[in-house]
Amino acid sequence: ATPTALLVGTGRGAQLGILIRGAAALESARRIDTVVFDKTGTLTTGRMRVTGVHPADGVRREELLRAAAAVENYAEHPIAQAIVIADGQRNAAGLPTVERFQATPGRGALGMVDGALVVVGNARHLADAGVGVVEPHAVTDTVVHVARDGRLLGWISVNDGLRDTAVPAVTRLRALGLRPVLLTGDTPAAAGAVAEQLGPIEVIAGVSPEAKAATIRELRADGRAVAMIGDGVNDAAALAEADLGITMATGSDIAIEAGDVTLVRADAGTVDLTATVDALTLARATLRTIK
Ligand code: ADP
Ligand code: MG
Repeated sequence: ATPTALLVGTGRGAQLGILIRGAAALESARRIDTVVFDKTGTLTTGRMRVTGVHPADGVRREELLRAAAAVENYAEHPIAQAIVIADGQRNAAGLPTVERFQATPGRGALGMVDGALVVVGNARHLADAGVGVVEPHAVTDTVVHVARDGRLLGWISVNDGLRDTAVPAVTRLRALGLRPVLLTGDTPAAAGAVAEQLGPIEVIAGVSPEAKAATIRELRADGRAVAMIGDGVNDAAALAEADLGITMATGSDIAIEAGDVTLVRADAGTVDLTATVDALTLARATLRTIK
């Protein structure tokens, strides 16, 4: 391989808003046949808003929201901010102090609020804290369960929209003969609602960050050359496991460090997912030049 062609490739990438970390990344990108997308913050905007508040019997709506907002005020997930905002006019500074706060990527958060343990997150996270929950039926938004001292206070639904560039990116990948996969820690119902808007795509839902990495390993063991694109701390292990890890300039630092390529190109003020397609196409073209 001529160093010149590789330099031209990475230089052209920079022009396209694609930062490629080294020649090895270009070589990997050329062979990719499967592109795995994280859902929240990657295919979707990550700009969450609360769509519903559902207190359990005997619980006041304000009580549910306040408990959740107190803990989420300490968390960094996009869901957290949406819940703090939905708590109302009271600003974040007015929320109670949380002791022993702990966030678990891909699951949720918890902490002591006014002497009581408040747990916020998905069903798995509540189960880890010893609280059994039944997933509400046919809800395609992301469901956040809330418990206090082992008792369910209810659930809050949140949602964000697809990125404008998600459908074009997935469509163009398919046209190139690449296989798109949606991989998410969210519920199958929420994942299905997103997949429906994207056209044919394999869906793997309800997976922990460790299971995301294991899924990438399994695909590779099946002989597939896998690119993974993700934005979050919860994607870092999977990004490192992929033949090619693609991250977004707006993603978490931990994810960016785990990746080989970073997308910096913007469309209407947000990362342009079609840069993924350009990255793979560019790698193929560059390596052809070298031959
Ligand atoms: P994705 O894999 O789609 O990017 P994440 O791994 O970030 O999603 O999150 C997976 C799930 O974990 C979310 O859908 C949510 O149910 C739960 N979760 C993670 N962090 C929080 C939080 N701070 N508050 C509530 N729920 C959370
Ligand atoms: Mg994400």
